[in-house]
Amino acid sequence: MLTPCRNFSLMHPRDRLVEIMQRIYDYSMTTTSGGNLSLLDSDGDMWITPAGIDKGTLVPEDMVCVTKDGNIIGRHKPSSEYPFHQTIYQRNNHVKAILHAHPPALAAFSVIRQIPNTLVIPQAADVCGKVGIAKYATPGTQELADNITESLNDGYDIVLLENHGIVAIGPDLLTAFQRFETLDFCARIIIRAGLLHNSIYEAHPEICAITTAQPPNIMAYGITDTELDTKTLPENYILLRSIPLLKYGIEFTDGVASIVSKQTPVVIFQNDAILATGSSILKAFDRLEVAERAAQTVLYSLSLGKIVPLNSEQVGDLERKFPVNCGVFIIKE
Ligand SMILES: [Zn+2]
Repeated sequence: MLTPCRNFSLMHPRDRLVEIMQRIYDYSMTTTSGGNLSLLDSDGDMWITPAGIDKGTLVPEDMVCVTKDGNIIGRHKPSSEYPFHQTIYQRNNHVKAILHAHPPALAAFSVIRQIPNTLVIPQAADVCGKVGIAKYATPGTQELADNITESLNDGYDIVLLENHGIVAIGPDLLTAFQRFETLDFCARIIIRAGLLHNSIYEAHPEICAITTAQPPNIMAYGITDTELDTKTLPENYILLRSIPLLKYGIEFTDGVASIVSKQTPVVIFQNDAILATGSSILKAFDRLEVAERAAQTVLYSLSLGKIVPLNSEQVGDLERKFPVNCGVFIIKE
């Protein structure tokens, strides 16, 4: 049974901090000792996670309140990164919540000092907002606080900290968490796509380009566990051959490299994406485009009547006249 929806904003600040830190820890996006969260309540007092307490077992009573007069209330000391939380609030009136962590994927981007591209999945750029980068400084220092706030002056919603991690801000804690979680998801996709593509390139020297995408008609097949029949139009079968529908999760393994081949240049991952290969980026893109049109054609056909696919004799004729390793693109009209 689903838990009834709660109004997160009406929860006590201590409970909000515990809930979000629990999610971050349970998602392996921070360690026992790493990461910290804070928010400003309606009185202007700051609630922040404590220093030196196991992040996996935090309870509401562990949270620390730093009043706007500077009094510290609670049974623990505030987080060691308290200086940058305080400085951000002092210099940015619109910020009401701050999240800091070192999830492995985003930490990897911080080490190479590159911002993950948020255009890899739909809506991510809107959710994340503007993403910037702040110069390295020793953790817990005012210099780090100054570097982060200097970067925030450019209007960023998330700042990657060089060789350290990430700081996400927001008008509330849920917004800051959504920005952080979405950017981390983009970072993991980029890293996994790189590993997947590399394993295919190593296994198939003839493949020089790979494209993955989530076009709407193809994804209708990807999310309904239905194989796309490519034996409808000659061009579809010549370029695509049969497209296997692979179980979700295999795209995160090396298994895809042994499935993709000249005979199987395109695959669909359940609930994820289509992957198309080619001897050039134009040829890979052509296969992607043809696959999407093939899916659209079948969906249109189903709304009109019963589909009549090419029979085995007609398919065999196509295979003889257009072997997959011939210049199939030359025959396109
Ligand atoms: Zn840190």
